Amino acid sequence: MTQNTDHVEITNQCVCCDACNPVCPQWAISSGNNGKYVVDSTKCYLTPCLANYANGNFYNLPCVSVCPTDAIVKS
Ligand code: SF4
Ligand code: SF4
Repeated sequence: MTQNTDHVEITNQCVCCDACNPVCPQWAISSGNNGKYVVDSTKCYLTPCLANYANGNFYNLPCVSVCPTDAIVKS
């Protein structure tokens, strides 16, 4: 199975505020079950998202820009 490595992931900095979930155009983020939100690597397409929504700036990504704890990082 091919794995999509072009995605973001969520660290333990996550405080489960749910800000990132509704702003992701790919519906790639869910609440998970380990006390932090998770990114589905098969749904998140980081490079197109950067181009379409963030003008190439990682910190302008829909998910990253709303996260209060900088918990969303490049995989
Ligand atoms: S980078 Fe884009 S597609 Fe990936 S989780 Fe963030 S908002 Fe969704
Ligand atoms: S915005 Fe940040 S802190 Fe809030 S649920 Fe998403 S990853 Fe967690």
